[in-house]
Amino acid sequence: MRFDFSSPNRIIFGPGVLQEIGLIAKDVGHRALLVQPQTGLDVGPLTVLLAQAGVNTTSFLVSGEPTIGLVQAAVKTAREAQCDFVIAIGGGSAMDTGKATGALLANPGDLLDYLEVVGKNQPLVNPSLPVIAIPTTAGTGAEVTKNAVLGVPEHKFKVSLRGATLIPRLALVDPELTYSLPPAVTASTGLDALTQVIEPYVSRRANPLVDLWCREGIIRAGRSLRRAFAQGSDAAAREDMAFTSLLGGLSLANAGLGAVHGFASPLGGEYSAPHGAICAALLAPAVKMNVRALHAREPQHPALERYTEIARLLTGSPAAEIADLVDWLEETVRLLGIPPLSRYGMGRGDTARLVEKAARASSMKANPIVLTEAELSEMLEEGMGT
Ligand SMILES: [Zn+2]
Repeated sequence: MRFDFSSPNRIIFGPGVLQEIGLIAKDVGHRALLVQPQTGLDVGPLTVLLAQAGVNTTSFLVSGEPTIGLVQAAVKTAREAQCDFVIAIGGGSAMDTGKATGALLANPGDLLDYLEVVGKNQPLVNPSLPVIAIPTTAGTGAEVTKNAVLGVPEHKFKVSLRGATLIPRLALVDPELTYSLPPAVTASTGLDALTQVIEPYVSRRANPLVDLWCREGIIRAGRSLRRAFAQGSDAAAREDMAFTSLLGGLSLANAGLGAVHGFASPLGGEYSAPHGAICAALLAPAVKMNVRALHAREPQHPALERYTEIARLLTGSPAAEIADLVDWLEETVRLLGIPPLSRYGMGRGDTARLVEKAARASSMKANPIVLTEAELSEMLEEGMGT
């Protein structure tokens, strides 16, 4: 057994823990850059709690998924306001913006120096300015991961800024923040959370510590994803999904992902589909294709047994088989109203280009088996619904 484990210094989880933000933040700094979504979130109560604790805030608004230019603007705002730490509240976009900003504020040069694919890919040598990450969705787990996904509009691609220093100093997960999420957001982010406890469990880099988190997350998502969608105020279901999202973030940061996320970066870069919706549409097709390829070429591969175990944990039935896992996933996608990817404008004419890009994506390297171009094409086209 060998593993190498990274996580935040501190994770605070529980309904209502946001009320403690003042006490928590005043130990971290005096002036925070408050990175928040442009719409849909009232940070008024949060800034009052911070002000009462003597912490000043300068707001930075994030609309849509972050780009290189957005992070550069956040760094400029933080420097001008002399912020000594970052609080990032919102979904994956706000948290990734905050994480990248914290890293850039502590490292010399330009963001491009540190980016993979489109930049010089230099390592971030200095520790980030402290970042407190507060998720308001239950999906990405970005509050505990060591990368920030950024769009590069001129390349129609998404790249990651990576490094252990990207992991927030402190993650504060309050399930109450997710009670008011609209059902469509609950659906796509919840299926992302589920994908992020399934892919690390069959990953080539799976390890026994991550296995524990994945099994627990799969059980909780199995009993609570549909409930959280149907009844947003169901506190127990929301808590399960917030915890699954956290477990998914810890798992992917320590064991990688797979083919679903291999497609998510090129698709997310070219089309305006939310990350969670892409993962949701591709999860069942990926399970089917991986299982078929494993049976054909590596029938002794331990991932096959793991897929059976996932079927049992997710459905709660000790006799479930892989076919039941696929049925459960397809039925959930239907019940939760996840649209096929063709809805976002992609069609069969795009397959070859997207497959070529996905095959090079870093997540694809952790997939349990190397899928051929034909297999990746078939998987993608099933997700498109064409
Ligand atoms: Zn994801």
